[in-house]
Amino acid sequence: MTSKKYFQGEGPWSDADQLVLYLDTGSWRSMRPVVEVESCIYCGLCALFCPTQCMINKNGEYFEPNLDFCKGCGVCAKECPRGAIIMKPEGEFNDE
Ligand code: SF4
Ligand code: SF4
Repeated sequence: MTSKKYFQGEGPWSDADQLVLYLDTGSWRSMRPVVEVESCIYCGLCALFCPTQCMINKNGEYFEPNLDFCKGCGVCAKECPRGAIIMKPEGEFNDE
């Protein structure tokens, strides 16, 4: 029996092979990560470090957060080597 049977849904620090997209973590968000696509070099570090694993690969060109699950923690912005992710207050958006 492998450890994957015990740790399904764990984050990237485990050996799980499934995403952690089943909690309503999007409702926690007060800040929103905005990706400046022209600055993204598609290194994938934002996706690797995102605690909820909600960074979506957009056609192999850049990454974008799935806002249903992004909790606005800012880890992706902190880890991005290009400074391509800007955290902005949710109040600046009127799409919800
Ligand atoms: S960490 Fe920054 S540069 Fe790398 S894929 Fe994410 S947004 Fe793009
Ligand atoms: S702010 Fe970034 S690291 Fe945090 S949950 Fe959202 S996409 Fe993931």
